[in-house]
Amino acid sequence: MTYLLLGTNLGDRIQMLHRAINLIAERVGTVVLQSSLYETAPWGVTDQPAYLNQVLVVETQLKPEELLVQTQAIEQELGRVRLEKWGARVIDIDILYYDQLILQTDTLTIPHPYLHQRRFTLVPLAEIAPDFVHPILHKTTVELLADCEDGSEVILFSSNE
Ligand code: ATP
Ligand code: CA
Ligand code: CA
Repeated sequence: MTYLLLGTNLGDRIQMLHRAINLIAERVGTVVLQSSLYETAPWGVTDQPAYLNQVLVVETQLKPEELLVQTQAIEQELGRVRLEKWGARVIDIDILYYDQLILQTDTLTIPHPYLHQRRFTLVPLAEIAPDFVHPILHKTTVELLADCEDGSEVILFSSNE
């Protein structure tokens, strides 16, 4: 099982999320759970439009490196252009977790290195995986969220209920 964070703050954001999920279902594996959509304040570079974020749980046969290749190809296909670090984008797909795997290569760090510092990641993750334990920090999502000092705004945008 892999846990993916989708983010978008350009174009038709809802449509971008739908297109990304359809391509993930085709090429990555079965989408087992989808969080609600959250509207979130930009993080890092704050002078840009608000994001929509969503977390998915996906059952995949792909190895982590293959997963990164596929998610980056989907970003490209949906028109992602990399300009500045943490700048605006039509779609971003980050790999948060891959089972309990700990991995660090030149191109891939799992768990995602910033996940515990970001409310825009932890809030949707807590909705669908509250008890998942971070393999390095040994804390659940709920515990990580309670410890998180990020004060940036995360608002429920459209509920999955
Ligand atoms: P951040 O990683 O802080 O969320 P970002 O998503 O804007 O920033 P990108 O430009 O999308 O950063 O990605 C930069 C590089 O991060 C990618 O080319 C990829 O090789 C690398 N990377 C390392 N670990 C991961 C991961 N867990 N998920 C996705 N990309 C990763
Ligand atoms: Ca990201
Ligand atoms: Ca990314």
